[in-house]
Amino acid sequence: MTLPSQLFIDGTWREPADERRISLTNPATEATFAEVAAADVADVNAAVESAQRAWEGGWRDLAPGKREAVLHAVARKLREHQEEIARLEMLQIGKPISDARDEAGLGARCFEYYAGAVTKFGGQTLPVGRGGFDFTLRQPMGVVACIVPWNFPFPIACWKAAPALAAGNCVVLKPASLSPLTALKLGELACEAGLPPGVLQVLPGAGAAIGDALVTHPLVRKVSFTGSTEIGRRIMELASRDLKRVSLELGGKSPNIVFADADWQRAAETSPMSVFANTGQDCCARSRVYVERSIFEPFVERFVAATRKLVVGDPANDATQLGPLVSAGQRATVEEFLADARKRGSQFACGGGRPHPKGYYLEPTVLLDAGKGDRCWREEIFGPVVAITAFDDEAQMLRDVNSSPYGLSGSIWTNNLSRALRVSRAVQSGVLSVNSHSSVHVEAPFGGFKQSGLGRDLGLAALEGYTELKNVYVAE
Ligand code: NAD
Ligand code: MN
Repeated sequence: MTLPSQLFIDGTWREPADERRISLTNPATEATFAEVAAADVADVNAAVESAQRAWEGGWRDLAPGKREAVLHAVARKLREHQEEIARLEMLQIGKPISDARDEAGLGARCFEYYAGAVTKFGGQTLPVGRGGFDFTLRQPMGVVACIVPWNFPFPIACWKAAPALAAGNCVVLKPASLSPLTALKLGELACEAGLPPGVLQVLPGAGAAIGDALVTHPLVRKVSFTGSTEIGRRIMELASRDLKRVSLELGGKSPNIVFADADWQRAAETSPMSVFANTGQDCCARSRVYVERSIFEPFVERFVAATRKLVVGDPANDATQLGPLVSAGQRATVEEFLADARKRGSQFACGGGRPHPKGYYLEPTVLLDAGKGDRCWREEIFGPVVAITAFDDEAQMLRDVNSSPYGLSGSIWTNNLSRALRVSRAVQSGVLSVNSHSSVHVEAPFGGFKQSGLGRDLGLAALEGYTELKNVYVAE
């Protein structure tokens, strides 16, 4: 397997302008295994200009049916290379191989979905009265910058690039410094499948070095970002200068609400993976669990028993459910949260330590008695840590749920239909699941309320978000 190591601009591999490189560490072994080019501001300019040329040179005017055919070819190519993509993802971020395979498939599925969608997507004719008629057009924007994080590098790159390209835009994709390999592979494979040169650029590099240049480039018409709330806020500020369009998918502190009338045994057995999957590095992690008091103790007992059974270890092993954290820094951040929880007297029902001497591993950790003001209860941890609390009153519990500045996802467990509907309406978040923890469906909009973000990924909502809406009035 050859590892990509350069920038991907205008359909070819390029050395960066100033020859800077990022070294990649395998989080499962702590060994450095590759070096990848890091883009500079000059490379950002070259990539954006290449994208603009490709846009004006034909991609924006290509018939939707032709874009559909190319994107289907990209999807087929990604499926052919599913195992290779999965292995690259595993190496760079320590993702368990079985998850990495599923996510490679999800990336391909995004291209299939938007390939099919774009030929069924258009404007409307509107009844404006006698004397004329009115129609709308959905027009591509131009160059779109897609900035993606390290926790789901490949699927998020695909769920941004596929709808942006389907809608007729050209893309500059910036992966996180920790995870450039699968994004670069996407650029290469898409071109091999027939995407014209310049339609998709991939620029690895540190956000601090090239983020501002990319976000403020006058030819970039939209920035689609997934990552921290802090950087999301900065991108929105920078974009405000020339009123660039932004979509932001940011942090979360999602609730998992379990009522006594639910199949709470199943809830308890499935809930650990709703927070510990991807070693907790998931913006949708159900990290605050609210359990109705009458079932609190047996629920916690089952939850902890299920947590102890999780397989933590080598991501290359098919049976592994939790790999290491992505970096030493990420583990240090999570351990600061745990130190704070200890200081404040939280009870550790399990976990809290390092299970392996090598690799950035951390045991899945269950906290009880966290105070509502504690950092572990209020802040996004982005690690394998959950806090569980008991509640007595539905209305009071919902006030507490909604007091979070976040509102990304959440789960509700109940067999009472009225309650399921009432609570689904009341929880302030963009995505909810009832009697399930499933949050991401290619066909359905994904994104947050409040400080969890702005705009939506996935579904037809994402396709709309990569177009400008034009209204034309024609006199009779
Ligand atoms: P981040 O927000 O710093 O990075 C996300 C992406 O933005 C990366 O590609 C990064 O290179 C880029 N970036 C960084 N600075 C930038 C800038 N000034 N301008 C433009 N782009 C910039 O996230 P992180 O540091 O990798 O992770 C920190 C925290 O972010 C995590 O602990 C977690 O709380 C949160 N996070 C959330 C998600 C999510 O899915 N919502 C994903 C990853 C991280
Ligand atoms: Mn950062």
